[in-house]
Amino acid sequence: MTKSIIVVGGGLVGTSTAYHAAKAGLDVTLIEQKHVAHGASGRNPGFVWLHCRNPGWALDISLKGVELLRQLRQDLPVPFEFRQEGGLIYFTQESQRKVMEEFVELRSRHGLDMDLIDTHAVKEKVPALRDDVLGASFCANDAQIKTPTVVAALAAGAVAHGARIHERLPVTKLLRSGDAVVGVRTPDGDFYADVVVVATGAWTEHFMRDALGLEVRVGRERLQVMATEKLPRSVGPITYGPETAKVYTLFRDLPSWNEEAFTSDIERELGHTMLTLAAQRADGEILLGCPIDYPGHVDLRPTLDGLGAISKTIARDFPSLADAAIDRVWAGVLPFTSDMVPIVDFASPGLFLAAGHVFGNSSGPMTGKVVAQMLLGEETDVDMHETRWDRPLDPIVPGKTVVW
Ligand SMILES: Cc1cc2nc3c(=O)[nH]c(=O)nc-3n(C[C@H](O)[C@H](O)[C@H](O)COP(=O)(O)OP(=O)(O)OC[C@H]3O[C@@H](n4cnc5c(N)ncnc54)[C@H](O)[C@@H]3O)c2cc1C
Repeated sequence: MTKSIIVVGGGLVGTSTAYHAAKAGLDVTLIEQKHVAHGASGRNPGFVWLHCRNPGWALDISLKGVELLRQLRQDLPVPFEFRQEGGLIYFTQESQRKVMEEFVELRSRHGLDMDLIDTHAVKEKVPALRDDVLGASFCANDAQIKTPTVVAALAAGAVAHGARIHERLPVTKLLRSGDAVVGVRTPDGDFYADVVVVATGAWTEHFMRDALGLEVRVGRERLQVMATEKLPRSVGPITYGPETAKVYTLFRDLPSWNEEAFTSDIERELGHTMLTLAAQRADGEILLGCPIDYPGHVDLRPTLDGLGAISKTIARDFPSLADAAIDRVWAGVLPFTSDMVPIVDFASPGLFLAAGHVFGNSSGPMTGKVVAQMLLGEETDVDMHETRWDRPLDPIVPGKTVVW
C-alpha cells in the first residue's frame, strides 16, 4: 500500500498528481528543478482542444478533463482562468472545403458538438480574421485556460492538503534498493518515499537515461509563441488556421485529404510546419503561434525564422493585428510518444511514469487524478489500458516530423 510519494516535475501533470494524492491522504513531496510551470505547462496558449482528439483514451480523458477543470475552479484555494467559448479551425480556400465538411461529419459521429459555420458566423466569433475567410469547423466542447494559473492553483491546493513543494532543486538520480526505486538524489540531499512519480514532460528521455539508465521513449516538439500587448476583444473561441490540419491523423485519414491544399506558401518558403493559432486571454493579450520543430534536447529558445513565420502567417490571416505591439516571445517544448498517448503506469517497483503528454491541457489535470487512484489501488475514472508502460513505442528521432 502506497503511503508516501515523491513527484518529480511541477507541470500540469506533476502538480495535479501532488494535489490529488495529498487530498487522498498520501504524504507528498514535489520537486521541481526551476519553478512550477517552468515547462510546457507554463508556455502554452491554453487550448483545451477536444476538436481533434482521437477516439479512445485521448477523447475520453479530454472530455472528463474539461469537467475536472470546471470542478477544480470550485475546489482549489486560488482562482484560475477558464472559459468555454468553443474552438474553430478556419479555412480560406475552396480546395479545403470538402475536407472540412468530412471532418465535421466525422467528429459529430464521434459525439462532439461540432458544426461547419459560414463566413458571417466566423467573423462574428473572431472579428480579427480576414474578411474573405470561407468558414470553419466549430466545436462547442473546446475551452481555454491560462495554464500557468492552473498550475499555480493546483500547487496551492496540494500545499493546502499538506504537500511539500521544493523549487529550484533538480533531481539528479533515482535511488534504488535491489529492483525497486526508493527515492531521489538532489543537491540538497536524498529524499525517500514508497513511490517516485516521474512527471518530467519533455525532459523525460534524457532524465531517465541519466538518473536510472532506463530508456523511456518520450520525444520533444518545440513550438514558438508571441504575445501581443493587451488589446480589445477580437478573438472569441480558440482559433486554429488551416495549416494545422496537417498535424492531425484524423484529417490525414479523411477520403478527400489533400496535403497540398493545407500547406501554405509561407511554410514552403520558410520550411516550417505551422500550427497557426490565435487565442485571447481575459486581460486582452493575444497569443499567436506556432512553428514546429523537433530538437534533440529541451531547447526553450525561440528562433528568428520561427518568429518570422508567425509574423507572416498572422499578418496574412489577421490583418488587423499586423501592427499590434508584441510584448513577449518564447518557445515551449512538448513531450510526445510515437502513438501520441502518454505513459501513465508503473515501470518497476517504486517507479511510476506519468510522461509524454502532447495534449496536457485537457489530459494533464485528469492524469493527476487517475495517478492518485492507481497508487491507491482504486478503480480509475478513465480506462488506462492505452497508457501502459509495456506497450511497444518507436524510438525518438530528433528532427523527424510526427503527427498527432
Ligand atoms: C506552445 C505550446 C502549445 C501547446 N498547445 C497545446 C494544446 O493546444 N493543447 C494541449 O492540451 N496541450 C498543448 N500543449 C502541451 C502542454 O503544454 C503539455 O502537454 C503539458 O504542459 C505537459 O505537462 P507536463 O506536466 O507533462 O510537462 P511540463 O509542464 O513540461 O512539466 C515538466 C516539469 O518537469 C521539470 N523537470 C524536468 N526535469 C527535472 C528534474 N531533473 N528535476 C526536477 N524537475 C524537473 C521541468 O522543469 C518542468 O517544470 C502545448 C505546449 C506548448 C509549449
